[in-house]
Amino acid sequence: MDIEINLLKKEILQCSKCHLAASRNHVIFGEGNTNAQIFIIGEAPGRDEDLQGRPFVGKSGQLLDKILDACGFTRNEHVFISNIVKCRPPDNRIPTPQEAATCMPWLLKQIDLINPKILILLGATALKYMAGADRKITRERGNWLSLQNRLAMPVYHPAALLRDPSLKRDTWEDFKKIVFKYRDLVNPEHYSAHV
Ligand code: SF4
Repeated sequence: MDIEINLLKKEILQCSKCHLAASRNHVIFGEGNTNAQIFIIGEAPGRDEDLQGRPFVGKSGQLLDKILDACGFTRNEHVFISNIVKCRPPDNRIPTPQEAATCMPWLLKQIDLINPKILILLGATALKYMAGADRKITRERGNWLSLQNRLAMPVYHPAALLRDPSLKRDTWEDFKKIVFKYRDLVNPEHYSAHV
C-alpha cells in the first residue's frame, strides 16, 4: 500500500491539470498516517501551506491540532489530512466547482488507498464538494453522513472558529461524537483526557 501511495504522491506532485498549477509554490499532497482510520478533508492550501508544502500549518492548522489533541488524536498516528484542491487558489479564494472537479479524482484515490472508516469534512466547501452543492454546514454539522461508503462528519472549519469563537462549543460537541465513533469502530480503548 505504501508503494501505491508513494506512486500516487509522485503523480499528484507533478499535476498541472488545472490552472491553479500556474501560481502555486507547492502541491500539497497531505500528511499524516497513511494507515489512519480518520481522513480529514479541508478546503484548499492557504499562503502558509503553499510556502511550506504542508497542509494546515497556519493559525487554522494550529487550532486544528489543539482540537485533535483534546480528542487524543495526533497527526502522525490517528489521521491523514488533505484538501479538496491540492494547490492554493490565488488570494485564498474558494476553489471553483471546475477546479474542485478536476482535482477530486486525486482526493478520491487517496481515500480509496488509505481506506479510513471516518471522514471529517472541515467546513462548508469540503461539505459541498463532497456531498452536494445544496448542503449547508450550519444545518448539517454534527450529523453523520454516508459518503464513499464511509461515515462522514461535517464540522465547522477552524478558520470559521477563529472568526467566530462562539462556534467552538458546537464544534467540540461534534468532535466528541467523532471520538465516540472512533471508540466504536476502531479502538474501544482510545484515550482522551477530555472525552
Ligand atoms: S489543484 Fe489539483 S488538479 Fe489543479 S493542478 Fe493542483 S493538483 Fe492538479
